[in-house]
Amino acid sequence: MCGIIGYVGNENAVPIIVDGLKKLEYRGYDSAGIAVYGESGLFDVVKQKGRLAALEDKLSGFAVKGIMGIGHTRWATHGEPSDANSHPHLGTGGKIAVVHNGIIENYKQLKEYLLKKGICFASQTDSEVIAQLAEYYYNGDIMETIIKVANRLEGSYALGIMCTDDPDRLIAIKKDNPLIIGVSEHGSFIASDVPAVLKHTNRVYYLGDKEIAVLKKDSVSFYNIDREPIEKTLERITWSAGSAEKGGYEHFMLKEIMEQPKVLRDTIASALNSGENKTVIDKLEIERYNKIVITACGSAYNAGFAAKYIFERLCRFPSVEVELASEFRYKDAVIDSKTLVILISQSGETADTIAAMREAKSKGSDTLSIVNVVGSTIAKEADYCLFTAAGPEIAVATTKAFSTQLVLLYILAIRFAARLGRITPEYERELSHQITTLPDKAAQILEQIDFIQKYASESVGSKSIFFIGRNIDYAIALEGSLKLKEISYIHSEAYAGGELKHGTISLIEEETLVVALSNCPSLYGKIMSNIEQVISRGAKVLMIGNQPKIKSDGKLSHIPLPEICELFSPSLSVIVMQLFSYYTAANKGLDIDKPRNLAKSVTVE
Ligand code: GLU
Repeated sequence: MCGIIGYVGNENAVPIIVDGLKKLEYRGYDSAGIAVYGESGLFDVVKQKGRLAALEDKLSGFAVKGIMGIGHTRWATHGEPSDANSHPHLGTGGKIAVVHNGIIENYKQLKEYLLKKGICFASQTDSEVIAQLAEYYYNGDIMETIIKVANRLEGSYALGIMCTDDPDRLIAIKKDNPLIIGVSEHGSFIASDVPAVLKHTNRVYYLGDKEIAVLKKDSVSFYNIDREPIEKTLERITWSAGSAEKGGYEHFMLKEIMEQPKVLRDTIASALNSGENKTVIDKLEIERYNKIVITACGSAYNAGFAAKYIFERLCRFPSVEVELASEFRYKDAVIDSKTLVILISQSGETADTIAAMREAKSKGSDTLSIVNVVGSTIAKEADYCLFTAAGPEIAVATTKAFSTQLVLLYILAIRFAARLGRITPEYERELSHQITTLPDKAAQILEQIDFIQKYASESVGSKSIFFIGRNIDYAIALEGSLKLKEISYIHSEAYAGGELKHGTISLIEEETLVVALSNCPSLYGKIMSNIEQVISRGAKVLMIGNQPKIKSDGKLSHIPLPEICELFSPSLSVIVMQLFSYYTAANKGLDIDKPRNLAKSVTVE
């Protein structure tokens, strides 16, 4: 997820673009760049690795000026953060400049094709192929060229494009990533998000997939992919600048919860049928290992804990262990070159996980990391790395990064099981199909928000909230409980349903809330008994699951989930628990995005 902005108008584009990038920095901040059509008739390009402030410093040393330009603040997906990989990217001839938000899934094939034609690349990004392909196809008609390029791209994109032959025309096109077009008194804008243009205008168009916008300083026209003119409605934004940054939501956490269908779709696309993650998964020689150790901290540990059930169930692997990274690093683990150590970290900078990775390497084990930040320490040092396509996560309490970690672990388990011959090709196909249905089912859950919000508002006064589940439901109950305590400051614990009678049940009193998960068909009877046991001791129960079909009644309330194979049900139940935690904390008026005592990236021990 990057931030892009473009401007064509009467004023100097440079300060307008830099200012807009500041408002988009939440979308990406590993590097930034700007290209301006200057007086020389060429593009002046300034790019810099690091935060936007570093680009500003660099710009202060150049006399860059012009009335048309594009800018980008990057969240790398392909190629580490570096000056060369920063956007904008230019074709070799310097004729066409492009900023891109998204992932080009077939970039390798396109790059191969262009390399054979003798075209040299300046970066490792997927995005550069767009600029190079455009320049290769360019025949004097930029619109025709862009349509030709778009027809060859697979994946997602929002693009801002300039051509030196058209010094007064900025062109935009998108597919599966957002792009708005702003119109003001002094010029026209493209941007990934409304806050980037709010200072200049509140009048915007929302570009649709495969729609093309042609911007001039005093006009905007729209076309479909067949180059036929289309009409669009100009919308008036009424949000304040602050809420606009959060997409109109009150907190980043809620915005990030809502982004889950999209980031799940992107992550699945990168790992299941084609894409970088798939290439890495195919490279792993699972037959070489006799043990898998998953190690991580916090929610990432919970993702690993859920994955243990799936690896065991599907792969029948002799040994799958899950260890807290802070423990693993000091325990003198029994691992060797036949062990695959999987490390999970959103930031890729978690100190304990870095130490665990180095410990594993020193013992000769292979390391596979699952991280969200390209260029991070873990991404660089691990032998293999899978990237979650979650984009930057701002809220301290993870939601979308967790969900994408989980889905990569599912895909890994399915591939390993197939490679080891533990599942039939038909079952592999069936499971893969189930995975592809997750984004839509996640979206269905997000439609049940009203009930969850209401239920949460009745739970604000709780002293303690317990989460119970069995098998994989127990694993995901741990994450539900962690999410709740992180942001609502309500004491919470998760228990395996069968453990209740061994102590915990003594904590149940009149009106104690118990959240019970029920997604494992062979264990419905067992979890229903646990529910009976706590209700008869005064508890009220919120049951989350796709079976059995019961009606909310008295002390028992039920949130049904869309049908899904039980192994992947954590991806759906966790969304309900995220929303429940969010609304409980919101009802208490807490600082949800920055809970007390917690930091987003734990870079200390
Ligand atoms: N794939 C592009 C890159 O890595 C754009 C990243 C994005 O939009 O997330 O540079």
